[in-house]
Amino acid sequence: MNDTALQTAKELLSHSKKIVVIGHKNPDGDAIGSCLALSFFLKKLGHDTQVLMPNDFPEFLKWLPGCENILLFEKDREETTKLVNEADIIFTLDFNALNRTGELGTVLEKVTTHFIMIDHHQQPDSYAVVTYSDVTMSSTSEMVYHFIDKLEGLKKIDASIATNLYAGIMTDTGSFRFPSTSATTHKVIAHLIECGANNSAIHQNIFDTNSPDRMKLLGVALENMVILEEYHTAYITLSQKELDAHNFRKGDTEGFVNYSLSIKGIVFAVIFIENKQESITKISFRSKGNFSVNEFARTHFHGGGHTNAAGGRSEKSLKATVKEFISILPKYKNALNHA
Ligand code: 5GP
Ligand code: MN
Repeated sequence: MNDTALQTAKELLSHSKKIVVIGHKNPDGDAIGSCLALSFFLKKLGHDTQVLMPNDFPEFLKWLPGCENILLFEKDREETTKLVNEADIIFTLDFNALNRTGELGTVLEKVTTHFIMIDHHQQPDSYAVVTYSDVTMSSTSEMVYHFIDKLEGLKKIDASIATNLYAGIMTDTGSFRFPSTSATTHKVIAHLIECGANNSAIHQNIFDTNSPDRMKLLGVALENMVILEEYHTAYITLSQKELDAHNFRKGDTEGFVNYSLSIKGIVFAVIFIENKQESITKISFRSKGNFSVNEFARTHFHGGGHTNAAGGRSEKSLKATVKEFISILPKYKNALNHA
């Protein structure tokens, strides 16, 4: 964020305002953590704030401080639309194109108020009056910490803010192991612990709450894994039938794709998940090294994200989507062999 943008943000926040803070569709730990933390901080500055999400979030995040007050567009269309329309400032966090909020995006596109974007994904759109975009950042939650710092507000970080930021950074960095984790990330994390984030409890709350159904579904996913050695690629499929048989709940498949990437020699890992309700196949892409799954998802599957983690979708059936995916791979053989 350059000085002019920071100055604009400071001016916008110099008087108490009605503020809405929004994360992306199918919100993850970083989206929820960054939005809740920023909202708590803005309240301390005297603003009237409300966190909105396009749709529901996973059970394993439903203990984060403040999460009980999040409103869902999917559930409360009227109320959330009113809040968006009446807001003086709309913060959009952990995404950079309004269509990442699904149907809520059509409401946001009509709004004429000031947007402030804080995000670490590639190729940001230009809808915001303040764009704080940094693709080198581990997470949006880390950026919210730096944003608070730029507003000279670090002293206002309490245990609730620290816990949300810690959870967001931890989930987006694969517990501080992805390459985007920097020395600064660790310094931020150390300070968050000093401010009251209980690192061990946060880890347990998020990772040690598996249901037996989820573990069995992981077994099916691993059983379904296909390894394409010549492309250093491994993919997993999960059909709606398999999900239903294990009482699938939002968030249950989170992290499954990483098992493929943990195989020696694999640099490209994919999971295809059938969603009969939306008539789509949802896809998650992960990579190691310089193979850009952002580019792959953008070019072939209406998606995007980061170099090493991206998502996308297909309107085709699970089987047809996998077939299409396999047909694309030869084009990337060279890149996959030199990732
Ligand atoms: P996941 O595979 O965990 O859903 O997402 C991985 C990364 O890609 C996240 O940073 C997420 O925000 C981004 N992402 C997931 N799905 C999409 C999509 O459909 N479009 C875009 N642009 N990004 C996505
Ligand atoms: Mn993120």
